[in-house]
Amino acid sequence: MKRERSTKVVATLGPASDTENKIRELFEAGADIFRLNLSHGDHEAVRQRHQKIRRIEEEVGRPIGILADLQGPKIRCGTFARGSEMLVRGQEFRFDSEDIPGDKSRVHVPVEAVFSAMTPGASILVNDGQIRLEVNEAGQDFARCRVIEGGRISDRKGINLPDVVLPLAALSDKDRDDLEFVCELGIDWLALSFVQRAGDIEEARQLANGRAAIMAKIEKPAALECFDSILDASDGIMVARGDLGVEMSVHEVPPVQKRLIRRCRAAAKPVIVATQMLESMITSPVPTRAEVSDVAQAVYEGADAIMLSAESAAGKHPTASVHMMHNVALSVERDPTFRQIMEASRTGIRETVTDAMTVAAREIAETTEVKAICCFTHSGTTGRLISRERPKRPLLILTPFPEIARRLCLLWGSHCVVTKPIDSFGEAVLDAATIARREEFGEKDDRVIILAGVPFNVPGSTNIIRIAELQSCEDGTA
Ligand code: PGA
Ligand code: MN
Repeated sequence: MKRERSTKVVATLGPASDTENKIRELFEAGADIFRLNLSHGDHEAVRQRHQKIRRIEEEVGRPIGILADLQGPKIRCGTFARGSEMLVRGQEFRFDSEDIPGDKSRVHVPVEAVFSAMTPGASILVNDGQIRLEVNEAGQDFARCRVIEGGRISDRKGINLPDVVLPLAALSDKDRDDLEFVCELGIDWLALSFVQRAGDIEEARQLANGRAAIMAKIEKPAALECFDSILDASDGIMVARGDLGVEMSVHEVPPVQKRLIRRCRAAAKPVIVATQMLESMITSPVPTRAEVSDVAQAVYEGADAIMLSAESAAGKHPTASVHMMHNVALSVERDPTFRQIMEASRTGIRETVTDAMTVAAREIAETTEVKAICCFTHSGTTGRLISRERPKRPLLILTPFPEIARRLCLLWGSHCVVTKPIDSFGEAVLDAATIARREEFGEKDDRVIILAGVPFNVPGSTNIIRIAELQSCEDGTA
């Protein structure tokens, strides 16, 4: 099974996409990585989703990435007796610390520290800023507000307080608990919400202790101010436009998105563009033209991945949403302008041997008729560097480690395959050729580029480029 598309699709799982059949359907429609959102559902639900993904992975014989997304110090309201309520402009509404279902006049907020930080006149935004309230009076355990912009409020909707400095740690007790739980389950990426400084990443990295790659979600203006150090400390970045567009003016988000994508590519770290990409498909079978353009734009900008949230987790059309992303990405990638943009926007500091090798491999792939670039990687670094080149030919990433293959699923253009342990370059050439044919990258007369390091099994030693004929490799005459 080989995808024709290079930009990856991340699909969030939830009640609308929970069964094994549905998850398989999403994978077949084009989902490359599944996101488990720790903000919703209990550990048992997460465990079951995780098990189903791993079963499907085994069945289809392809590595599938799993990204667990920690809630972070995000404030969410409690639940409502009727599931939701309509708030109308001018009415009073109360947030309080009573852990009982809400109604038309009040709802629980399970983070007590927020009440004392609220001051009269401060804004409270609910559901990605769709509902706006103003604080009239706040005490130790409540805030009495007036509704400025009405709308429907429902169970566990997010709350932002852009005017207030919140006395909250980067990882809540729940996050620590969730982190340990998902790392034990075996995930590939751990996403941290509301990161404010590089130290937040380092703290999570220590706790994860090598069990997952760490992704910083950029959704606070504070994170933009020290983005370079956050990028340095992280393995990947998510442009979390939902909260970012609430915490800063929404019209400032597109330039930020463009800038972050460029910086990530220069640093050879994968970047996901997330939130409201196909929002209307939560209820409608077709997206708006603007949504299609938004997805296309992220692809043109060279994002590694585009993400579905409620569209696939709780919407009416999860599979159609994945399909739509797949098709939009494919249309863009087939546009000659897309190739021009990828080539004109190559940046980055190139100072290592591996940098030079990946650039050379990409150039050879541009000048000669090769069917694929086969790249051996141990730590994943060579994989990241060759993906950064956004080469014209397919990218076969070969590693003996399943967890590295799964992590690298997020990289633009990667087709990851787990190899048997390899001891010599000769063995590597033979293996690359066999895999390239088996995975339908080429026929016997075709040639591929092989990128590897000698001595083998030493990370960071990529130093050989071989242009090999598939036939002669297998004959042993290569
Ligand atoms: P969330 O993060 O879905 O966990 O809120 C993404 C975003 O804020 O865009
Ligand atoms: Mn968010």
